[in-house]
Amino acid sequence: MIAEVIVDIAAGETDRIFDYLCDDDTVAGTRVRAPFGGKTVPGFVMRVKTTTNVPANKLKKVLPCPDELPALTPECLALAEKLTARYRVPKALTLRLFLPAEMRTGKVRELTKNYASLLVPVAEMQLSKTAKNQRGAAEYLQQNGKTDCAYLNNAFPGGVAALEKKGYVAITKEQILRDPYKDVSQEHVTRVLTADQQRAVEIIGSDERTVQLLHGVTGSGKTEIYLSLIAKCLKEGKSSIFLVPEISLTPQMLAQLRARFGKQAAILHSGLSAGERFDEWWRLRTGEAKIAIGARSAIFSPLENLGVIIIDEEHDSSYSSETAPRYNTFDVALLRAKKNGCKLVLGSATPSTDTYKRAKDGEFSLIRLEKRINKRPLPEIVIADMRREVRRGNNTAFSGALKEEIEKCLTEGNQAILFLNRRGYSQTVICKECGYVAKCEACDVSLTYHREENCLKCHYCGMKYNPLSACPECGGVRLTYAGTGTQRIAAELQKLYPAARILRMDNDTTSGKEGHYKILKAFGEKKADILVGTQMIAKGHDFPSVTLVGILDADMSLHFSDYRSGERTFQLLTQVAGRSGRAEEKGKVVLQTFDPENDVLRFAVRYDYEGFYENEISLRAAMAFPPFSKIVRVLVTGEDDKKTIEALREVYVALEKLYTDNPEKFLFFNKMRAPIKRIQNKHRYQVLMRLSDTSVLPEIYNACAEARTRDVLVSVEENPTNLS
Ligand code: ADP
Ligand code: ZN
Repeated sequence: MIAEVIVDIAAGETDRIFDYLCDDDTVAGTRVRAPFGGKTVPGFVMRVKTTTNVPANKLKKVLPCPDELPALTPECLALAEKLTARYRVPKALTLRLFLPAEMRTGKVRELTKNYASLLVPVAEMQLSKTAKNQRGAAEYLQQNGKTDCAYLNNAFPGGVAALEKKGYVAITKEQILRDPYKDVSQEHVTRVLTADQQRAVEIIGSDERTVQLLHGVTGSGKTEIYLSLIAKCLKEGKSSIFLVPEISLTPQMLAQLRARFGKQAAILHSGLSAGERFDEWWRLRTGEAKIAIGARSAIFSPLENLGVIIIDEEHDSSYSSETAPRYNTFDVALLRAKKNGCKLVLGSATPSTDTYKRAKDGEFSLIRLEKRINKRPLPEIVIADMRREVRRGNNTAFSGALKEEIEKCLTEGNQAILFLNRRGYSQTVICKECGYVAKCEACDVSLTYHREENCLKCHYCGMKYNPLSACPECGGVRLTYAGTGTQRIAAELQKLYPAARILRMDNDTTSGKEGHYKILKAFGEKKADILVGTQMIAKGHDFPSVTLVGILDADMSLHFSDYRSGERTFQLLTQVAGRSGRAEEKGKVVLQTFDPENDVLRFAVRYDYEGFYENEISLRAAMAFPPFSKIVRVLVTGEDDKKTIEALREVYVALEKLYTDNPEKFLFFNKMRAPIKRIQNKHRYQVLMRLSDTSVLPEIYNACAEARTRDVLVSVEENPTNLS
C-alpha cells in the first residue's frame, strides 16, 4: 500500500504530501517515522491508496509508531484540512494542534510502578516471630490484594523484599496513568436543578439551532447547567467538550468536575506536567475518558461521538489564538458541532457584542437567567469619584469611601478583594483633574504614548499627535501616563492597616506550577483578609466570606486603545463585582474612577447589560467597527530588515491590487510600521485593513501565504485583540 504522508516540519518548502510505501494495515491518521532527506522525521498518514506516480526504486518505506490507535481520528483529519485551507498555513502546523506537544517530540517516558501480589496464603508461610514487617506486609496483601510496593515499603520496611526472596510474593512492573488530581478533594454534591436551570436544559435539548447562548447573571448557576448537560451526554454514551478560559485559576471548578465525573473527565490545563498531559490525551483518544475540559486548545480533543460542546465565559479574549494558525475557538467549535450534529452552548454574564447581536438577530438561541441562585441580590456598586479625591488632596490609591468600607469589612471579620486593572496599563494619557482622555480624532479610540518617538499614536489608523503638556479640556497639568502596580498598592495598604493580612496575586507572585492555586487556597481558607490582584482574580472564584470588592482604577481598561475597550471594561467590572456577596452576607463594590459620567461605568453599576449593549452596538454601527466590519491586520516580521521589507513589498503589491479592484469592499487600507517596531529582534511591519465585505479574505490569506519565506513570517490577524 501507498501512504500519503505529511512530514512534521513546518517549513514552507516541505508543506506538501509525499508518497511512501506502508504496511497493508496502515490507516489514515497513523503517526509514522519517515525517511526524509537523509534523516528520519515524524509524519502523519493523511490517506492510504494503492497506486503512485513515484517510481518504485525511489519509493521509501515509513514505519508506523507503536500507538494503540491512529493518533488522528477521521474527524480530526477532515477538520485539519479545513483549517489549513481557511488559514493557509502549512499542514504540519495545523496537525500539531491536534496532538499534545509531548507526543511529537517523543520526550515522555511512560511511568511504571512496582506492585506486589501474594503467591502463597499467609497461613502456609514460614515466618519467624521477629519478622514483623514480613508478616505485616503479607497480611496486608492478603486483605487488600495487589498493592503498590512504595506503600508497603513505607508501612513495613523491608518486608516485601524479604517475602519476594522466599518466593511468597511476586513483584510486577506496571504502567500507571499519572493522576494529577490525587490531592483535590472529592466531595460530591448533587444538586437539584432550579426551575430556571431546568428550563434552560430543556430549551437546549429542544431548540433546533446549533448555537445556544446562555446569558445569565453571575451566580445564576450556569455551571450546574453545563454539568447537567454533560451528565446527560454521558448517560447516552456520548462525549463532551467543556472549555473554560483558564482552569488553573479556578481550582474550585476543577474540584467540582473531578468530584462529579471522576476518571471520566480528562482535565487539560497548563499546570499539568508533560507526562500528565500525554496520559490525559490518550485517555480521551481511547475513549476511557469521555469529557475533555480545558482552555481553548481542548477544542481539538480526539473525542468521537460528541454530544455537546460548551464554551464558558464565551466573551473571554483567550479564545482567540495568537500564534499561527490564528484560529478562533468558536469557529472551530461550530465546525465540530455541525459535523457531530450536536449543540454548541455558549455561556456568559456579559456576552461579546458580536455574539449577542447574532443571538438577537435569531441566528443563535438566547436563553436568559436573570436571577442569582436563592435570589441572592447582586452586590451594590458605588462610584468613588477620584477627581474629587485629588482635589481634596488625597493622592493615595484609595478613596475615602473605599477606606471606610475596608475598615468595616475588617472589623466584621469578612474578606475583601482589591482589583487593579493592569491590562489597561497601556500608557494612555488621563487628566487627573477632569478625567479627559486623549483620543484619535478619526477613530475614537484612546491614543497610546510612545516614548521613543515622544508622540501619541492611534493603533488603528497610525495617526500621530504631539504629546500633551496640559489638558485640552480643563487646562490642568496633572496628566498621568500609567497606573500603579499591585506591589505598591499592597505596601500602601499594609501601612494603612498594619494588622491586616494581605495577599498579592499577579504575574510576579504566581510563578511555578501551583502558584495561583496556593494563593487562592490560602485566601479561601481565610488565611488572609485582603487579596490584591490583577485580571487573574476576576475569574469565577467563589469565596463566600468576601463582602467587599474594590476596583481601584476602573478607567484603565476603558481607555485601552482597542475598539472593544468599552465592552472589555463592562465585562471586567461585572465579573469582578460578581465576586462579592456570594453567600449569606450582602456584598458591596466600590468602583473608583476619574470619569464617573462615563456611559459604560454607569451601565455596569446598574448591571444593565441590555442598556450597555444597545449603546455599544449603535456606537459600533456609527464607527463601522466590528461586527459591522472586519479589521484585518497583515503582520510581516523578520530578523533581517531588508528581507522583511521585500516580503512586505510583495504582499503589499498584491493587497493593493485587491484593494483597487474591489474598493467597495474596503473601509480602510493602509501600510505602516507596526506600533512596536521591533520585538525580540524582529522587525515588524503591517498592512491594516477594515473590510465591509469579507469575501476578499481568502485572497488576503493567499497573498500572505505566497509572500511568506523561510526568514520572514507573514501572518493574518482577524479582529486582533492586540494591535501593538
Ligand atoms: P455562574 O456560573 O452562573 O456564575 P455558579 O454556577 O457559580 O453560577 O453558581 C452560583 C452558586 O450557586 C454556586 O455556589 C453553586 O454551587 C450554587 N448553585 C448552583 N445551582 C444550584 C442549585 N440548583 N441548587 C443549589 N445551589 C446551586
Ligand atoms: Zn485613528
